[in-house]
Amino acid sequence: MKVTEHIKAAQGKPLFSFEILPPVKGKSIDSIFTVLDPLMEFKPSFINVTYHRSEQVYKKKSDGSFDLIDIRKRPGTVGICAALMNHYKIDAVPHLICGGFSKDETENALIDLNFLGIDNVLALRGDPPKNTKYFQSHPQGHHYAIDLVKQIEKLNRGIYVEEEISDGGKTDFCIGVAGYPEKHYESPNPDLDLMHLKSKIDAGADYITTQMFFDNQKYHHFVDRCRQMDILAPIIPGLKPITSMKQLSGIPSIFHVDIPSDLAVELMKCKNEKDAEKVGTEWLIMQTKDLIASGAPVIHFYTLGKPQVVYNVMKAIV
Ligand code: FAD
Repeated sequence: MKVTEHIKAAQGKPLFSFEILPPVKGKSIDSIFTVLDPLMEFKPSFINVTYHRSEQVYKKKSDGSFDLIDIRKRPGTVGICAALMNHYKIDAVPHLICGGFSKDETENALIDLNFLGIDNVLALRGDPPKNTKYFQSHPQGHHYAIDLVKQIEKLNRGIYVEEEISDGGKTDFCIGVAGYPEKHYESPNPDLDLMHLKSKIDAGADYITTQMFFDNQKYHHFVDRCRQMDILAPIIPGLKPITSMKQLSGIPSIFHVDIPSDLAVELMKCKNEKDAEKVGTEWLIMQTKDLIASGAPVIHFYTLGKPQVVYNVMKAIV
């Protein structure tokens, strides 16, 4: 079932979704089930699975010199989505990125997803690889998420990259895209960022999932600005638990989002990580309650290695 169909069927009742990372290479699918099993109690509507492109690392050779090689530490996004659907009978939302893919490879991935009965994709550009400042697309790939949205939307109309296919089957993907309540870090200003977001919706995206934020006013303001610009698609807030004092500086530098003063002050008072997790959990409960009260269509949790915190938040909410 599509994300938008879940939202429609809920008729205003709040829905929940969780996001997981594929396990690092060598770990089994059980490591994912161990994370998700307790959370299934809360009947999430769907599970997102992130995509991680390969990294370039130097590998020492026997003669002492180094080779620059590509390593994918977390393969398996498509396989995990299929496993989740099979194991939990739940909808999975694979993240698809432009980075590292040619249009042909993207098309092949979409065909696989379609064969597996996966109805949703979150279409993203992806970040530059580690230790690289600027995003570079594959020579035969896409530079912006909007181009990926256009490719998926065309496939939904039976138009393939491979031009010889004239009577190709149509897919029917529900397409999600990313939105940034505090602006994407590369965007010169919030208005331009919103213009580009609107282009993604106009190109065929069905809904928006936001970058994390810790000040709900930023989400509410973002939704208002979107509506003023005629971006009418559902806007799913993405929430991440704070669990450590290090995140006070780590989150702003990695994700380019602010930590509000009230939260920062409470975190600075913490004596250890356990205290910090308590503060982060209480903050997340407060954020979640406010978002439910204000009618957010789905509350999406970036579970990312902290399922117990998300579990505790959910227990306090439902
Ligand atoms: P875009 O929409 O392409 O925007 C990128 C930048 O370009 C923005 O500044 C935008 O304003 C600007 N822009 C857009 N179109 C144009 C244009 N035509 N001309 C000029 N400028 C333009 N990354 C991963 O690698 N894997 C994941 O699984 C993953 N999941 C994510 C899930 C969510 C909900 C979010 C919010 C982010 C996720 N990311 C993931 C990170 C994401 O890939 C990065 O934030 C990336 O830098 C931007 O992706 P985007 O899809 O928003 O890009």
